[in-house]
Amino acid sequence: MKVLITGGAGFIGSHFVRLLVREGFKVSTIDKLTYAGDLKRLEDVFDKISFYKADITNEEFVDFIFEKEKPESIIHFAAETHVDRSIIDPSCFIKTNVEGTFKLLEVSKKHNIKKFINIITDEVYGEIKDGKFKESSPLMPNSPYSVSKASQDMLGRAYFRTYGLPVVTIRPSNNYGPWQYPEKLIPVIIIKAINNEPIPIYKDGSNIREWLYVEDCVEAIYKLMEKAKEGEIYNIGTNIEKTNLEVANTILSILNKPKELIHFVEDRKGHDYRYAVDIQKIKELNWSPKTSFEEGIQKTIDWYISNQNWVYEKIETLREYWKKVYR
Ligand code: NAD
Repeated sequence: MKVLITGGAGFIGSHFVRLLVREGFKVSTIDKLTYAGDLKRLEDVFDKISFYKADITNEEFVDFIFEKEKPESIIHFAAETHVDRSIIDPSCFIKTNVEGTFKLLEVSKKHNIKKFINIITDEVYGEIKDGKFKESSPLMPNSPYSVSKASQDMLGRAYFRTYGLPVVTIRPSNNYGPWQYPEKLIPVIIIKAINNEPIPIYKDGSNIREWLYVEDCVEAIYKLMEKAKEGEIYNIGTNIEKTNLEVANTILSILNKPKELIHFVEDRKGHDYRYAVDIQKIKELNWSPKTSFEEGIQKTIDWYISNQNWVYEKIETLREYWKKVYR
């Protein structure tokens, strides 16, 4: 089967490309290679895939790629993904996540695509103090990022309901693991801890996230690519809930570093307190997460220790950015 993956040079997308190559699919990928995209993530499979450096908002070029590759399924990962950046400047989030998805849906409709997997996020539900969000819960997004992803989600819904495009909507919780861009919470903590630098934690570190190891996430998406019913929505999560402070303390203790490295900084604007999703629906398709937090975080730390060159290439630009977000 021919599958086209958008955002395949990103964190989760590259893990998914690798999984599909392993399973014998014919894979092509479109990626704009923004600051977050990197072909190094695909080095080990690059000779087995077709790669196009392209912006999903460029409808003509995307149409040309569909014409050439004739994909049967689209797995749409490409996005601007960092909440803090969306607070500084939401414009590219609207452009890529909303307009880019719209263009991709248009081209998919024109080419009679057999499956369109729309990768969203649990952040579209907004925050929840107790209990868990079901797929039927209302969308109440709070950040410019989550609003752009909710718009992407709703566009997919409209193309299913209105045009019969076979869209499947997937809402995963917070991912972590090898190759994550070092602006996200877990790699920031690991890198700062390794270098004995202050670790910025928002407010008092009490915000809670549900952590999903990236390999488990891509296996869940693969299962849904094979088994999901069109027009349906699926959460992916783990029930592994941690406060940001617990995450930082776990990493510091594995690395044998002092807790004094933790520096509480001014809270993120509009910071959601807690996300948590109900995963009964995907469990009924025989998927459940395999990786405990202890195992996943150890693998992730080991990976960042062995791949410090990759991280250091990114650090100089990140230092400027960190000055803007952590005060
Ligand atoms: P990432 O930032 O690591 O990768 C995004 C990729 O998209 C990059 O390779 C980038 O170059 C590419 N891209 C950005 N704009 C583009 C454009 N206009 N045209 C073509 N390519 C473009 O992101 P990620 O963490 O791998 O997330 C992948 C998807 O999963 C996103 O849709 C994200 O919203 C969603 N998601 C992520 C998480 C998480 O914790 N990382 C959780 C839930 C959902």
